[in-house]
This record gives sequence, structure tokens and C-alpha cells, in this order.
Amino acid sequence: MKVLATRKVDELGRIILPAEVRSNYDIKPGEKIDICVDESETVVLRKSMKQCVFCQGTEKLTEVMRKPVCASCIERIKNL
Ligand SMILES: [Zn+2]
Repeated sequence: MKVLATRKVDELGRIILPAEVRSNYDIKPGEKIDICVDESETVVLRKSMKQCVFCQGTEKLTEVMRKPVCASCIERIKNL
């Protein structure tokens, strides 16, 4: 994994995303960032993606009562 920048965490737990990173990855003020961890316990920041409220999947999402639900969960619910 490539290191883009190194920043200190302040006393409130905050870090600043460098302007160059925000610009290169089109991260705008107010935008949500997901804090994730992969199989090797590496913490990753990524632009927040809508996820299915049931399975956290990110493909074939439809809004149901203003909540994202994926196609396979919709099928499961239909078959209950
Ligand atoms: Zn789902």
C-alpha cells in the first residue's frame, strides 16, 4: 500500500487530510469518509459509499423507505 502522507493525531483524535490528498481524490468539506479495516488489520480511509442496511453490500442498491437495500436482500424479503 502506498503512503500518501503522514499526520499526527491531535488530542481530540483528529487528523487533517492534506489539501493535495483532498484535491486528488475529490474529497469535499462535509463529505463522509468511512474508516475501515482490512483482513490484515490495516486501517483505511475511503470516501463513504452507500451500503445495504441489511448486508452492507454496495451493489445494485435501491432506496426503500429512504434506506439503501441491495437487490439480493430485496429478493430475500420478497420470499419471506
Ligand atoms: Zn443487502
